[in-house]
Amino acid sequence: MIRELKVLSEDGAGLTRALGLPKDVPPGFGLRYDPANSATHVLFDGFGRYHNYLRISLVEHCNLRCRYCMPEEGLDWTPDEDLLTSDEIVRLARLFVHEGVTKIRLTGGEPLLRPGVEAITEAIGKLPGLRTLAMTTNGLLLIKKFDRLQAAGVNLLNISLDTLRADRFESITRRKGLNLVIAAVKEAACRGYDPVKVNCVVMRGQNEDELADFVAWTETMPLEVRFIEFMPFDGNQWDESRLVSFADMLEIIQRRFPLERLSDGPNETSKTFRVPGFRGRVGFITSMTENFCEGCNRLRITADGNLKVCLFGSAEVSLRDTMRQGASDEELLETISAAVGRKRARHAGMHTIAEMENRPMILIGG
Ligand code: SAM
Ligand code: SF4
Repeated sequence: MIRELKVLSEDGAGLTRALGLPKDVPPGFGLRYDPANSATHVLFDGFGRYHNYLRISLVEHCNLRCRYCMPEEGLDWTPDEDLLTSDEIVRLARLFVHEGVTKIRLTGGEPLLRPGVEAITEAIGKLPGLRTLAMTTNGLLLIKKFDRLQAAGVNLLNISLDTLRADRFESITRRKGLNLVIAAVKEAACRGYDPVKVNCVVMRGQNEDELADFVAWTETMPLEVRFIEFMPFDGNQWDESRLVSFADMLEIIQRRFPLERLSDGPNETSKTFRVPGFRGRVGFITSMTENFCEGCNRLRITADGNLKVCLFGSAEVSLRDTMRQGASDEELLETISAAVGRKRARHAGMHTIAEMENRPMILIGG
């Protein structure tokens, strides 16, 4: 497979390694994206976007039942033998990191329910060139597993929490556990995670009256509370009237706190703010009202081994089947390259997405 040198990335080191350049070439070193050659690197799409961020879903199951994430009636779970094995997950991670991925996020379902999550994390944490090993978790099992995960190199944590009230927590997640999640957030802060990211899906009539309470939490804690616009997925009864837009969230928060805008990185999906003088930050994930497709650098692998190049696209290709048919690494890369090359410029817009068939979020991996 040809490796082209005409690319630009904020992450020059990962890229140079992928391209076979000497390791000591500094980040960003004179590499320029050349549209004429965009198809020559596995992780470039046809719009010149370089994908150096991979999300891997470790499991479909969850110990919560969040209403926005999975259908009320439950799901037909994929049988265990059809999920990626630990070896398959690590093989794919190695391959992607070799091609220049510098950030991997482990997610799910609830990733901490995956048998052997510690060993998978340890193997991925050792991959040379990987800079960020992140995890998105509901936090319920985090404290139990924290020592090994941190030692394995998990250096970024997103913990999901949509309410600070116990009765609401139970109504949103259909389970108990608020105190465990709050304890997990505090433990992560004590262990030096800075910021600890807190993912909060905002839904009208459900928790928009708590936005300012979450912001108040950033006064002394090293948190980045990320308010996420409610997104439509199969079976989650999305309705525009339940969406609290970025603009509305800002307005609600500013009734109580002033916010100043901070600068965001080129591939950052969050618009970041701070209350002047506060220790932590506040971010907004505005996938519905202001999409950030232009700078998208993400790919996803579902727990059953499908590569998904867009969260809101139904196009998937089975890397599991390709591997189980005996594909070599080169053949796998060709499959990956073709899928990335077919990625569209942007998602279809919230109304179209709401009508489209897609997996429920729990089966994609957020
Ligand atoms: N179980 C883990 C957790 O909850 O953090 C990881 C998986 S969960 C699918 C990943 C993230 O997706 C969570 O932060 C969750 O809040 C978010 N999410 C799920 N469904 C969503 C929806 N319909 N709209 C916006 N965010 C959603
Ligand atoms: Fe489980 Fe996370 Fe989905 Fe909630 S958002 S049901 S915790 S996978």
